[in-house]
Amino acid sequence: MKNICVIGVGYVGLVTGACLADLGNSVVCLNRDQTKCDNLTKGILPIYEPGLEEVVRRNYEAKRLDFTTSYEKALKDAEYVFIAVGTPSGSEGEADLSHVTQAAEQVAKRLTKPVIIVNKSTVPIGTGDWVADIINEYKLNDVPFTVVSNPEFLREGSAVYDFMNPDRIVLGSTQRQAAEKVAELYEPLQAPAIITDLRTAEMIKYASNAFLATKISFINEMANICEALGADVKEVARGMGSDRRIGPEFLGAGVGWGGSCFPKDVKALAHIAATHGSHPQMLRAVMDINYDQRKRVIQKLREIVTHFRGKTIGVLGLSFKPNTDDMRDAPSIEIIHMLQHEGAQVKAYDPVAMDNAKSIMRDLTYCDSPYEVAADADALVLITEWNEFKQLDMTRILKSMRQPVLIDGRNIYDPERMRALGFTYRAMGRGHDANGQPL
Ligand code: NAD
Repeated sequence: MKNICVIGVGYVGLVTGACLADLGNSVVCLNRDQTKCDNLTKGILPIYEPGLEEVVRRNYEAKRLDFTTSYEKALKDAEYVFIAVGTPSGSEGEADLSHVTQAAEQVAKRLTKPVIIVNKSTVPIGTGDWVADIINEYKLNDVPFTVVSNPEFLREGSAVYDFMNPDRIVLGSTQRQAAEKVAELYEPLQAPAIITDLRTAEMIKYASNAFLATKISFINEMANICEALGADVKEVARGMGSDRRIGPEFLGAGVGWGGSCFPKDVKALAHIAATHGSHPQMLRAVMDINYDQRKRVIQKLREIVTHFRGKTIGVLGLSFKPNTDDMRDAPSIEIIHMLQHEGAQVKAYDPVAMDNAKSIMRDLTYCDSPYEVAADADALVLITEWNEFKQLDMTRILKSMRQPVLIDGRNIYDPERMRALGFTYRAMGRGHDANGQPL
């Protein structure tokens, strides 16, 4: 059993804290908000993440997991301090490191015994060295410490599973021994550890996210070519993905990526590359293709309904992907904004993200079900592929709409079936129908 402090109780911090406690360690999670702490002790989580509530409750009851706003309490016995705070985009696309800086300063001022500072936040290359500089500058006692970069690869929606079943653990440090001590924490997970230097570990995270974003932008570009030439991108992705060198994941064509990681990480990597004399032209294309996909949905809709003024458009799904309530850089935000800008009334439904969406988008009608969204709508746009949208009574949906227009932004429906039911149906890159019309 090790004593661990985790700073930040978001998707990464809370999952890391709860899962490390579940592996038998004693973990104190620090955050700045007393109400959040009080809620966590009652099993009320600040985020929606399947399965996490149970892990938190189990470990809190077993007294392996605690929550505090006090750095003194959190650091009292800590041998490891995990920094898992947010690193959002700054105004120029750079990573905003103010939260990491604050956390490092606060830790430094209270260091009384040797610790390993483990950086879990996704940070630009060189941040580990910078955190070490901050600690050296602010520490009041002459105690040794080491910074280890340990980027996180979990996915929202399956974060607990991903943390417990990692493909690899990446660790970077100037001192291999410190990286190995962090690797010991993960030993029960039996995943290979890749131990390298600080900067390389930081780069592995950015490169991984940039590659996955590239894969999605790539298939979206293929979808657009398919659409022009009458091929079906779903079949193309199936054919490509069966090749083990390519693999089937991240080959779903649609409205593109969003969320709290890909947009800011690709931007931050492009920014740091450009400011260090590199010319990240592929990363820029990856971002351009992605943002164009959102506009493509509007264009598809425009081709059918001609204009949006006075029209009611229903939106199915708001979160940036299924199984999360995360609305950060969700494609729905930009699509809804474009529709409203051109005069549409928008109605929307999402199984879990509506509370978060309400704080970002106030002037739309939030509905209690997909059927309420469809009622009297001039068109329906599916943006997030929640499972519950795959099983809808589409005849009921069709009958309640003013015009039976369906834009399937994630290619979840069968085009032929939708057409047979009577929808004017459009998907993303699924070729042509018998009359040469795009599907
Ligand atoms: P989040 O916004 O959900 O959580 C951040 C947490 O940090 C919040 O609890 C916030 O209150 C806290 N915080 C901020 N400043 C603080 C401070 N000075 N002291 C104490 N607490 C502070 O963010 P997240 O999604 O958990 O992401 C955290 C980091 O992990 C980011 O760098 C992100 O890029 C990276 N990451 C995220 C994911 C993901 O899927 N969300 C996956 C891998 C890596």
